[in-house]
Order: sequence, then C-alpha cells, then structure tokens
Amino acid sequence: MKLDGIHHVTCITGDAPRNLDFYTRILGLRLVKKSVNQDDPTVYHLFYADERGDPGSDITFFEYPGAAPGRAGAGMIHLITWRVQSDEALSFWEERLAGEGVGTERDGSGIRFADPEGLGLELAVVANDDAPLVAEHPEIPYELALQGFDSVRAYSDDPERSSGLLEETLGFEPRGDNEWECRGANRGSFYAYDASPAERGLQGAGTVHHVAWSSTLEDHAGWRKRVAESGAHPTPIIDRFWFKSIYFREPSGVLFEIATLGPGFATDEPLEHLGEHLTLPPNFEHLRDQLQHVLTPLPNPRERYAGTRTQARD
Ligand code: ZN
Repeated sequence: MKLDGIHHVTCITGDAPRNLDFYTRILGLRLVKKSVNQDDPTVYHLFYADERGDPGSDITFFEYPGAAPGRAGAGMIHLITWRVQSDEALSFWEERLAGEGVGTERDGSGIRFADPEGLGLELAVVANDDAPLVAEHPEIPYELALQGFDSVRAYSDDPERSSGLLEETLGFEPRGDNEWECRGANRGSFYAYDASPAERGLQGAGTVHHVAWSSTLEDHAGWRKRVAESGAHPTPIIDRFWFKSIYFREPSGVLFEIATLGPGFATDEPLEHLGEHLTLPPNFEHLRDQLQHVLTPLPNPRERYAGTRTQARD
C-alpha cells in the first residue's frame, strides 16, 4: 500500500466572496464544488482545484463568516506549495500578483506570498514526472498555470516524534532536513517541518485545518487498520460522498486525513458545470431551502468570462 501524495488541503476563511475571488480569478483555480461543511452544514465548504477536480490539486475552505484571523503555530501547517513549470511562470506570477496588490518574496526556486487572510502560499519550480493538474483561465496561459500541490510545511518542536508514524505507518520516505516524501503509483508530494514560532497557534481565518493524503478505494480500510494499530486514533471511515475519509492527529499535532481517489466531484454534477450551484450530499438535501437563506450568496466565478475563449489545452 502506498499513499499517492496530497489529496486536498482544507483551510478556514472568514470571507467566502473574497476567498472565491482570490483563488479563482487571481490564482486561476476552478471552483469545482460549492457545498457545505458536513459537520456543520450552516457554513460553506468550497473546493478549488484543476479543471477536473483531481485529488492533488484541491484546496478547500470552510467559511465561518467574520471568523477572527488565526495564526499558524506548533502542530499546524503554515505553508502550502504548488508546482509551476518554469522560471517564466514565476515571473508571470510575480507580475500578476503585484498587479493585484499581493506582495511576493523570491525564495530559491519559488515565490512566497499570502492569501487575503494571511495564509502562507508558495509557487515553486519542481522537476518531476507527475501529470500537471491545471485549471483553464482566460488570462493564464496553460504552461504558466498552477500544476497541483508539491508540499505542505508544518511547525513542530520535535519532528523526530512524528517520524515513526510517517515512515513506518504511512510509508513516507525521509528526504533529510525534517522532510518526507509521500509517493505512490501515480503521484507524490512532500511533508516538512520548520521550528515552531514562540507564539501559540490559533485556529482561525487564514489557517490550515487539515491535510488529506490520497488512498485508492481498495486500500482505504487497510490504511485505517494500519493507523489504528500504530496507536494513533483514527475516526471510523466517514463517507464524504465525493470520497471516503478517516482522520487522526499525527504526533506533532497536525490533523491528517486519508481520503479516497474517487468517486470524485463529477459524481453528482456534470464535469462542464462543476461548482456552479450549491451541491448537497443526498442526506443534506432536505436542508437546502434553509441553507440558501443562511449561506453568503456567491457568484459563479466563470460567468465573468462567459463568451471569452479560455486558454485551451493542446
Ligand atoms: Zn478533508
């Protein structure tokens, strides 16, 4: 059994309209599912990904309207990195983000910046053979677009205490410098730790809630068993409708999920129309009328480009 790298990263926003604008119009991702938090259906769960909503490209947000800003501390992820193809892409993004008033910082082969609520983001030039996971956007040429996740970095006071679970239980390979690679048959990504800041972390707007790793449907129950046998305490398998999930905390305190590669976001709406309407899993459908009064209205981000030719793939 091997995990196929990052499945999705879930974060918190206090402002869904601004969040939607940043991740779709500016970063060029596609809103592939507009749904609700299945543990609290009065708030949105928004999913931004590549054109097909593939695992490995999917950053998701719970919206808690007006949530106070949080800050990353020990046991929390503080940086999410996407792959881009070239230095030309980095220059494109430096200019595009500057045009939106977003400051960037060069860091070796990457640029770092923050989303409107302070969430740490990075674009990095990474050479590997993983298929690029790209969304179409009329202002962003295909070869310059975000290509899926490369890594997440967390804060830990003692990364060593996580190494047993990461290596023996989850099959991550150590890559030195408090960094591990999680790679399966189809793709992979990295997980790394930095020394914690002095200030305690605070879950809130602009922070990461959890990271999910990709499992095949066949292996999923096996992963739960293996995690339980390691002494971690996984939840039962929870059916999230578009995938199945288990959750547990790794020893440094970061909330991990193992989610299945499928059935996927096109299960309940056609691929061409992903994310255009509020989608509820069948067991939440009876709440629709009620929820439509509570949830912040959001535009269909692709309507603004209706009639514009998108940058098509070759
Ligand atoms: Zn999740």
